[in-house]
Amino acid sequence: MLAKLFDVKETKDKGKGLFAKEFIPKGTIVCFECKKCKSLTAAELGFDKMSEAEKMKLLDWAYRKKDGTFVAPCDETKYINHSCNANVLGTEFGFDIAVRDIKKGEEATYDYRDFYDDVKMPCMCGEPNCCKVVTFMHPVPEELKEFWDKKVNSALKLVNKVKQPLNEALRENGIVLPIVEYQ
Ligand SMILES: [Zn+2]
Ligand SMILES: [Zn+2]
Repeated sequence: MLAKLFDVKETKDKGKGLFAKEFIPKGTIVCFECKKCKSLTAAELGFDKMSEAEKMKLLDWAYRKKDGTFVAPCDETKYINHSCNANVLGTEFGFDIAVRDIKKGEEATYDYRDFYDDVKMPCMCGEPNCCKVVTFMHPVPEELKEFWDKKVNSALKLVNKVKQPLNEALRENGIVLPIVEYQ
């Protein structure tokens, strides 16, 4: 479930994307896997018989988790594009968080390297640290993990300080906001 903070718009070169309708402060929970998001197994998808192109297509509407299942988000969450310097990242708490302020009109991005897909996806995010080809390497290289952890930990310190549009939905889905000491 995606917070109602975004418009779906056409990007220049990546198909549709999510664009902030308003200023979104760092620490805002942007989305989470809710009970309406669909979970599919590799067998259900016929994944083993898929061509590389078909596996790539999957990335348009589903992502693969550590346990090997695929999640098809229930809403526009699927339009979030990849960036090697994403402004939204996953946490260990079952939700994804804005790791820096997102300006009104700015595109929201997620680091797909967090997923467990097994294709190679060219990247043209244009960030100085762009990996050029997204590979879904697990365990994630130490350096990348540190890069994410630093951002996520700093954003989590704000989780109880900023307005959380998904608060009620999180509660209904049994997800509790972590208490993080502000330092
Ligand atoms: Zn959902
Ligand atoms: Zn990139």
